[in-house]
Amino acid sequence: MTIKGIIFDFDGVVVKLKLDFPAIKWEMFGSEEGFILERLETLQREERQKAEAILERHEARAAHEAEPLEGVLACLAWMEERGLKMAIVTRNSRRSIETVKQKLGLFFPMVVTREDAPPKPSPEPVLFACRRMDLKPEEVLLVGDGEFDMLAGKRAGVRTVLLKNPARPSSEHADFTINSLHELATLVEGIDPR
Ligand SMILES: [Mg+2]
Repeated sequence: MTIKGIIFDFDGVVVKLKLDFPAIKWEMFGSEEGFILERLETLQREERQKAEAILERHEARAAHEAEPLEGVLACLAWMEERGLKMAIVTRNSRRSIETVKQKLGLFFPMVVTREDAPPKPSPEPVLFACRRMDLKPEEVLLVGDGEFDMLAGKRAGVRTVLLKNPARPSSEHADFTINSLHELATLVEGIDPR
């Protein structure tokens, strides 16, 4: 099966963002249950703006401290050489991605953020990225480190690759698993030998 593009989750795959989600939720909502973007949706306008400002402050700080994860630069170079399209799909904000790009001097041809489409686990941002790459979901792999990535990918009909990590060592929604991005080239060449 031909693979023509790869979608990456951002935090935990391309870079590590130091975001302490339980602490951020306490500060935003006064408790730590649920998921940040989904809880924001339930707030009235004024409360929501206050909570959003807290989130943006944490995201801005984390973006300034971001470090690229192991294997990312080699992986981007290999993709270019093989002629694969690339997109990032993240629940993060456009502003924080821009900060990371500038800070690390990275170039991402396409970034789908929470401003563009409903966030993962919705399939919509994944389908949006496929359309923007002008590829069918069957031609695309999605690499993520979380269950929302795997779910969004499955719902969109792309093939899912779990980058294993202590918080998410396996997923029933993952078609493949890898231990690091170094393994991605071998995986793709195994699926789609040339
Ligand atoms: Mg992630």
